[in-house]
Order: sequence, then structure tokens, then C-alpha cells
Amino acid sequence: MPIVKDLSSYKNVWVFAEQRQGKIMPVSIELLGEGRKLATETGSELCAILLGYNTEDMAKELIAYGADKVYVADNALLENFTTDAYTKVISDAIYEVKPEIVLMGATHIGRDLAPRVAARVDTGLTADCTQLEIDPEDKKILQTRPAFGGNIMATIVCQGHRPQMSTVRPGVMSKAEMDESRKGEVIALDIKLAKEDVRTEVVEIVKEAKELVSLTDADVIVAGGKGLGKAEGFELLKQLADKMGGVVGASRATVDEGWIDHSHQVGQTGTTVKPTIYIACGISGAIQHIAGMQSSDIIIAINKNASAPIFDVADYGIVGDLYEVVPKLMEALDKGED
Ligand code: FAD
Repeated sequence: MPIVKDLSSYKNVWVFAEQRQGKIMPVSIELLGEGRKLATETGSELCAILLGYNTEDMAKELIAYGADKVYVADNALLENFTTDAYTKVISDAIYEVKPEIVLMGATHIGRDLAPRVAARVDTGLTADCTQLEIDPEDKKILQTRPAFGGNIMATIVCQGHRPQMSTVRPGVMSKAEMDESRKGEVIALDIKLAKEDVRTEVVEIVKEAKELVSLTDADVIVAGGKGLGKAEGFELLKQLADKMGGVVGASRATVDEGWIDHSHQVGQTGTTVKPTIYIACGISGAIQHIAGMQSSDIIIAINKNASAPIFDVADYGIVGDLYEVVPKLMEALDKGED
């Protein structure tokens, strides 16, 4: 006999506050921004669930970013993420408090954690959402994500189970605004966790010693595609990006060629970005690339081929050879021209 849940007993919007070494990840602030919108539309409270050790300052930060309540699990066993411990504590909390909506970032941690929690609490999960809305009629959450290789957008509804769970890619939603005068409630969760529940031990955290590019925080991205013709082409784009205080992005074709590291890749299987200015140089505009940059405020495309699909999403299009156009743009910036 299937268990029939009383859906009406599930209330409020929860955001999993992902922390790493005591720092709240930007995606959690973005989810608080989105969560506030959903909470307002469903007439409910916005809550964060925070797991870690010595969490007091982080809980205050979450309140400043809009959480009405912060459910805290503070324990040495939760200092660093482990799949076992986090799954158990969050699943127990969901069983006890019954949130209606649970949002997590589609980070490496969120992608590991969310499906396990969803299975544990017997509900569905929509992964990698790019848009969340509340159905005005029945107040269910409409979860939209690219499907079939990015060729269609699918909107998914969790009908008969609760909570409604989604993961959202970093950089897609707008960050919540900080207001340090905001007041909220910190609620300590009753943690039932023993050392034996955790089958892995974090011995050491070693940060990869490579040049890290933060595409999600960048205001300006100068991205290069196969039209660069060679790896050295990225040096020219780096010069333009430096002049504009930006960073270099890339299409997957250039990553596949080994011209640049995957951390620079924009798109469906790379990073989703939302800068003020996105300059696409020698990028054709495949749907999988566009899925990752179409929310940029201003898109400028430089391409030799006037019918390249990138021009369909561009606010400004320059038909020409990027090796002629980019140096001219830099000259104009040096002269301070508009
Ligand atoms: P091309 O399509 O080869 O385009 C090169 C462009 O450069 C052309 O438009 C050409 O006119 C122009 N050009 C050539 N020379 C010059 C010049 N001198 N000056 C100006 N313009 C010039 N792609 C991504 O980018 N990100 C992803 O995350 C991603 N995920 C994918 C996931 C899946 C499941 C699949 C199937 C594909 C994915 N792709 C992704 C690949 C995507 O389909 C395209 O193959 C890729 O984006 C093409 O890269 P490109 O535009 O650099 O190259």
C-alpha cells in the first residue's frame, strides 16, 4: 500500500545553506533571493537550513540575506560535507519540520546531496532548474529546466509528494540583498548523528592549485569560440577582458580542443553566467552555449558569418574577423571612446 501523505501539513520554503570552511556559498544567497519570491507568492516563510560547526556568524548572515528562520545543525561531525551525515540530518529535519519547498544549489555538493535526500524522504527532485515559478491557481512550484540536450525547456510539477525539491545552477538567480538590521529566528535542530553513521572521514581539504576563474561573479566576460582558430587566440581576449575588468569565457569546442581549461566553459555543461556585458568572439551560438549566457544584460557578438545564430540573441552584432575587430575595440577603449 503506498503511503498517502497529508500534503497540507507541509509549509514554508527552505534553502540549503551550503557552507565550505565556514563560508556561505554564493549560490545559497542566490537561492535566498529566489526563495523570497516563492515564499511571498505562497504566503509562507523563507527558512534556511545550515549544517556545520561554529555556525553562529553564518546563521546571522543568512538572516541578513532574508531568512526568517534558520534551522541549524551545529556539530563537529558536520564541519565538512559528508554525504552520509548531511543526508541523515537534512532528511530527519524534513521529516520533522515538513517544508513545502526545498531548494539546493546544483554544485558538486548539491548534486550529490539532493537526490539522496529526495529518495530518503520519498519525494521527487527536479535537477538543474533555470526558472522557478508558482502556479497562481494551485500554488505548486513550476520547475523549468533544459531537457533533451537543451533542445526543449521542460516544466516539471511535483504532484503527489512533498517537499517539492529543486536544484538550481549557480549564477542563474539574482542574489538576495543584504540588510544587517533584519531580524530572524535561529532554531537548533535536534541532531541524531553518531560517528558510526558517517562512513567517510575528511582527512584534509586541498585546493586545486590552478588559476581559478570566477565566471559567476564576473561583470564582464569576453568569451572565445572555435573561430579563434588556435589556443593563442585566448591571449588576445584576455587583453580585452583585462581592459574591461572582466574574465575570459569559452565555448565547449575550444575546451574540447584543449585550448583552455574547462573552468572557463560557458553553457549547459559548463557554467551558467549572467554578467552585465558578454562578448562572444567567434562563437556560433549553439543552443547549449546560449543556454548558459542568454540572461546576460548586454550581449555583443563578433562573428565572420552574418547568419550565425549567436546574432539572434545578441543586443549588438559585429560581422567581421575577430582578429580585426577585437584590436579596434581595445584601441577605442584606450582612447576612451564610447
Ligand atoms: P563553432 O560552432 O565551430 O563556431 C565557430 C564560429 O566562429 C562560427 O560561427 C564561425 O563563423 C566563427 N568564426 C570563424 N573564424 C572567425 C573569425 N576569424 N572571426 C570571427 N568569427 C569567426 N557548447 C558550449 O559552448 N557549452 C556547453 O556547455 C555545451 N554543452 C553541450 C552539451 C551537449 C549535450 C552537447 C551535445 C553539446 C554541447 N556543446 C556545448 C557544444 C555545442 O553544441 C557546440 O558544438 C559548441 O558550442 C560550438 O562551439 P563554437 O561556437 O566555439 O564553435
